[in-house]
Amino acid sequence: MAEEKPGLRSSTEVLSRGFDPRLSVGSARPPVFRSSTYVFSSPEAAERAFDLVAGRAKPQAGEQPDLIYSRFNHPNAEIFESQIVPLEKGAQAALVFNSGMSAITTALFTFLRPGDAILYTVPIYGGTQSLIEGFLHSWGIAGVAVPAGDIAAMDKAIRETPRLRVILIETPANPTLVMTDIRRAASAAGEARAEESPLVMVDNTLLGPTFQHPLDRGAHLVLYSATKYLSGFSDLIGGVALASDPELIRKMQLKRNMFGNILQPDECWMLASRLPTVRLRMNRASKNAQRIAERLASHPKVAKVYYPSLFADAEQIRIRLQQCDFPGAMFSLELRGGKSAAFDFLRKLRIAYNAVSLGGVETLVCHPKTTTHSGFTEAQSADAGVTDGLVRVSIGIEDWRDLLADFEQALAA
Ligand SMILES: *Cc1c(COP(=O)(O)O)cnc(C)c1O
Repeated sequence: MAEEKPGLRSSTEVLSRGFDPRLSVGSARPPVFRSSTYVFSSPEAAERAFDLVAGRAKPQAGEQPDLIYSRFNHPNAEIFESQIVPLEKGAQAALVFNSGMSAITTALFTFLRPGDAILYTVPIYGGTQSLIEGFLHSWGIAGVAVPAGDIAAMDKAIRETPRLRVILIETPANPTLVMTDIRRAASAAGEARAEESPLVMVDNTLLGPTFQHPLDRGAHLVLYSATKYLSGFSDLIGGVALASDPELIRKMQLKRNMFGNILQPDECWMLASRLPTVRLRMNRASKNAQRIAERLASHPKVAKVYYPSLFADAEQIRIRLQQCDFPGAMFSLELRGGKSAAFDFLRKLRIAYNAVSLGGVETLVCHPKTTTHSGFTEAQSADAGVTDGLVRVSIGIEDWRDLLADFEQALAA
């Protein structure tokens, strides 16, 4: 929509690209364009726009095709997609979806065919796991699960899995924040299968775009639930895909045109307006979380705190230091006293809400075993560290001293 100004730093660029006030009566902030259809500038422009949207022609450098219809594209989607690119290190193109699951589903449908295999880290987001194990499986796509952080298992699966087309990494894993080395996975994929290298996709919802930069570490595609930190206010559902190769995004866009899972203009407008503050929010929340997690680690009612700055395993510490700028705002507490201790804790909280989801400015706490991870078998729960006494915390931007006091009063008998 507007000329890009290369050379600017990302916090400036997010506020200065993607939108030209002159096209909107001088409005300093983008308006919402709620039209379902767009008036063509000429029949020739309409013909060209259809050739482009169908993939029969490729846009020339700097070409601004006419908009057609809001299932394909609309100004608020374009503004958001342009403005998020500078926030993701190494990205050249982005695509917005009506949920995180929608972004993940479209990525997998774009790059997998029946007979192909997908390798994925576990634990992984429950919706993603159901998609791979409960749905793609029946479409003839083999899913190979490897434990998060297990380099040897990952290397072996990369070498031995026939027709491996996609490696999907979620790091850190939820709820115990086990990290997987993105660079190792990407280089193993490149070396073992030089002729037909699988695409490395990273669900970057928990630490990105502020603290973890998968494209910089060799990943091809970054996926988000924009519902979480990108939105930041627990008031909308959305998703994003980003890549350094615009061709990957263009292929996904052809699928999005067909599936009809673009995000609506109002939500795109909300998301775009929150991009300039995503770093401020995440930095504040991460600082809060680190202060609280490190203090709760010595609380007598807390058996263990899962948080990146408290990792004990040397390999996990190495990955964190190389791959993440800051530890982030999620931690989990293993409470002494099992489920009843966990439920008592949730009941007594006065500031933090008992809710699933994460990444909002307000602090949310949940009991994974009976909610987000209730579909797990006992064996899966044991592998993922989802115990009866585990509570997962998403720290917000409140004053950390009030939050710590809230947790301490809830832990007191
Ligand atoms: C929430 C979440 C998703 C799914 O996103 P929706 O926006 O709810 O569809 C995927 N991955 C991770 C890591 C998530 O936290």
